[in-house]
Amino acid sequence: MRLSRSLIPTLKETPAEAQIASHRLMLRAGLVRQTSSGIYAWLPAGWKVLQNISRIVSEEQANIGAQEMLMPTVQSSELWKQSGRYDAYGPEMLRITDRHGRELLYGPTNEEMLTDLVRQSIKSYRDLPQCLFHIQWKFRDEVRPRFGVMRGREFLMKDAYSFDLDYEGAVVSYRKQMLAYMRTFQRLGLKAIPMVADTGPIGGNLSHEFIVLAPTGESGVFYDAAFEDIDWEKSNFNAHDPADLENFFQTATGSYAATDEKHDEAAWAEVPEARRREGRGIEVGHIFYFGTKYSEPMGLKVAGQDGGQLVPHMGSYGVGVSRLVGAIIEAFHDDAGIIWPDSVAPFPAVIINLKPGDAACDAMAEQAYAAFKGQALLDDRDERAGAKFADADLMGHPWQIVVGPRGAKTGVVELKRRSTGEKVEVSLEDALARIG
Ligand code: ATP
Ligand code: MG
Repeated sequence: MRLSRSLIPTLKETPAEAQIASHRLMLRAGLVRQTSSGIYAWLPAGWKVLQNISRIVSEEQANIGAQEMLMPTVQSSELWKQSGRYDAYGPEMLRITDRHGRELLYGPTNEEMLTDLVRQSIKSYRDLPQCLFHIQWKFRDEVRPRFGVMRGREFLMKDAYSFDLDYEGAVVSYRKQMLAYMRTFQRLGLKAIPMVADTGPIGGNLSHEFIVLAPTGESGVFYDAAFEDIDWEKSNFNAHDPADLENFFQTATGSYAATDEKHDEAAWAEVPEARRREGRGIEVGHIFYFGTKYSEPMGLKVAGQDGGQLVPHMGSYGVGVSRLVGAIIEAFHDDAGIIWPDSVAPFPAVIINLKPGDAACDAMAEQAYAAFKGQALLDDRDERAGAKFADADLMGHPWQIVVGPRGAKTGVVELKRRSTGEKVEVSLEDALARIG
């Protein structure tokens, strides 16, 4: 993308309405603009970040066998009346009436809709288990939308739903999702701690919140440093063997972790002092096992092996995809701006042409730009060098390739790594090879 031709409206001033770093930086780096309270337009660079996160989420879902699909944002109230949630959901639900007077709603979540779709097509125990997910916009009329995309009213969520024959099967689906979550967050460069969460009237301990550590998080957290040492992508267990997977999680997640609401001083005292970590965190995911809460009232049944009928056990698994953009920035920024992890950066590199109009600079900058096949950002604006450097740091591109008149004559660029600040003078080929 050529910056001179792009809608990436960076701001020098700090917007007054933004209270936390990620909100300020998302506005200043030109990633989003608010269009109504808690509703945001994703401008080109922000949309790229959102797509990069979605792709990683989707790949890790596929890796555990979940199937991607797409359900609509607008739903009929009928299904919600069947589950009993239409009234219970309250004012957070945006209710819409169409021209025929039919009650519709903008989906805050999709348990009812998917239970209905599965009930139409699944007849036998042989059709289970199934796990399906989509990445779709949700609407919740939050009382207090705040912190930019962290608590919006319209937001992007990955929501997966599992259908199993019995409790034991549902636990396997649940563990697979936990694994997918830990791998996803690791690929996003984040430390996420799974914490046992309230399951409400259903009981049991099968609900976890995934909390990313960041000083501005909404919840206080206490956890055992043992979590930080686990490599979830390379861990030594067989993800396809339910017993092995369960055993791994029992060992890995048996250690202490709690938000301040559930903190237990007595249990905390048993964690060796050197391993105790305290901080603040942002909830980026939440998973539940809820048995037959929806399948039962909505009449989802399958024929069992012995001729009887079985009511499938379900679970649902949410990731706040748009909230993750804010959470990643909270975890990775400095005074100058965002520091994108390579895996989610909108552009792998920015090519800064210090002297547009100079034939040698233009030729070299264009050569570098062509090497990225349109995926990099070319700062070809007629601006002061200082302004270009400041914007590059603000936008947080992992690499900066600086083309100036002196180097352009000898084939040399300055290559800067945003995360370390390290700068080297190398040939353009070397710079491209390092970026990979
Ligand atoms: P919270 O306690 O933050 O309101 P929740 O328990 O209502 O979250 P879920 O229904 O479990 O959230 O949704 C799954 C994920 O979607 C959450 O973990 C969070 O990351 C994200 N999410 C929920 N509400 C919002 C929102 N208003 N804006 C952005 N992301 C959200
Ligand atoms: Mg909520």
